[in-house]
Amino acid sequence: GPEVFLPQRANAKGFDLAHSPTLAAIEEARALFADATWTAAPVLAGDVNPEAEETVSNPTGGTSPGTVQPASEADVATALDNAAAWDAPLDTRRATLLRAADMLEERYGEIFAILAREAGKGLPDCVAELREAVDFLRYYAGQATNTPPAGIFTCISPWNFPLAIFCGQVTAALAAGNAVLAKPAEQTPLIAKLAVEVLHEAGVPRSALQLLPGGGKVGAALTGDARINGVAFTGSTATALHIRANMAEHCAPGTPLIAETGGLNAMIVDSTALPEQAVQAIVESAFQSAGQRCSAVRCLYVQEDIAEDLIRMLTGAMQALNMGDPWHLSTDVGPVIDDTARKGIVEHIEAARAEGRVIADLKAPEGGTFVGPAILRVGSISEMKREIFGPVLHVATFKSHELDAVIDAINATGYGLTFGLHTRIDDRVQHVSERIEAGNIYVNRNQIGAIVGSQPFGGEGLSGTGPKAGGPNYLPRFSAPDHQDASG
Ligand code: GLU
Repeated sequence: GPEVFLPQRANAKGFDLAHSPTLAAIEEARALFADATWTAAPVLAGDVNPEAEETVSNPTGGTSPGTVQPASEADVATALDNAAAWDAPLDTRRATLLRAADMLEERYGEIFAILAREAGKGLPDCVAELREAVDFLRYYAGQATNTPPAGIFTCISPWNFPLAIFCGQVTAALAAGNAVLAKPAEQTPLIAKLAVEVLHEAGVPRSALQLLPGGGKVGAALTGDARINGVAFTGSTATALHIRANMAEHCAPGTPLIAETGGLNAMIVDSTALPEQAVQAIVESAFQSAGQRCSAVRCLYVQEDIAEDLIRMLTGAMQALNMGDPWHLSTDVGPVIDDTARKGIVEHIEAARAEGRVIADLKAPEGGTFVGPAILRVGSISEMKREIFGPVLHVATFKSHELDAVIDAINATGYGLTFGLHTRIDDRVQHVSERIEAGNIYVNRNQIGAIVGSQPFGGEGLSGTGPKAGGPNYLPRFSAPDHQDASG
């Protein structure tokens, strides 16, 4: 095969938004697509017979970015009939994925425009998302081996990282040589369509990568067929449980499900923490990406003796956040994904208000599906029954002798995704991180934005099955079951 130069593993540089020529270039590139429209139909190795066209909505309230034609039952059948494992030599697979990564980076203007108009993403989030997407491509290309693939892999990705997680799942499955059936989230088909286009242009055959946009019906069909050899899913815990039941009924016994799901993530701030550092980390972890990250902090525990001061500082920092069009660089908090999401979050805040538990909240701007960030008081994380996937932070206090009881309460939620700790006591870092059951533990920093290769990301318990994405154990799980720990 062709010679491939695999560079030492390095993460993408991304774009420095503080560098004004870089920012100007991005603005210029993105402006070309300010009024563009895109369309996502199924992309199959065969004839396409989709359902009727639907409009893709723009959560900012701006013009629609385009239309989607969901896959029909016939399209799913066509995809399954024509799926063929990617049997190109290892070097070719690697070179193709590396080429696709470069091509994605070159299309940044269009990618940022779609991310803003389809997913409501602000520029810093757009930059981070493209970086993570290409990091996944290069990382999995570098990890690929000659191990036999599982066969046909279904990949179902979420709207909150509609490019990065889509690319992560799909390219892991491809790097391992599988045939991939990809179903992006219903809300974000357009960016997935672009990614598939790029992967095909780079040289991935159509039979190895087919795109099936759609909702729950398409998802059920793609996870309920005996020909499927594995499923990668990122989304809610409830959907993961449906998928597991569907697979148990229709797929061969032992067909693997790799699921990354929800969290009820906590952060503990003790009275030795640096308040300014903690406040900045809390604001980022709770409100960046409008709180729509499964890693986001949902419940903050502050030690009682500093609680009043810290909450005052936190409230001030929250009140300084700008809400509005993510197209503007001054915007800190964009919209949530759609009106269903908005209503659910607002209902939660209003229920807390009726109980006198709102510490502070901001008014949402008109138009679009915005939710004003809110800080709510709770007695304990055990009162929180579900993950509120938006810019809402719950705050509880604890006394010094209650630290272990707090850890127990956090563990008792059954979730175990991220956890944050702010303290200057070394023994406490040791003690708490040994006892907390969470996939990713962050000390004296924010608890979002795991980096491919250096911070593999994933949880335990109700938060997912493992293995962690962007880590060395991920790719082997996309190989044939008998070969998962072979190295080549
Ligand atoms: N990997 C992301 C982070 O570390 C979160 C992924 C998700 O929300 O699904 O913030």
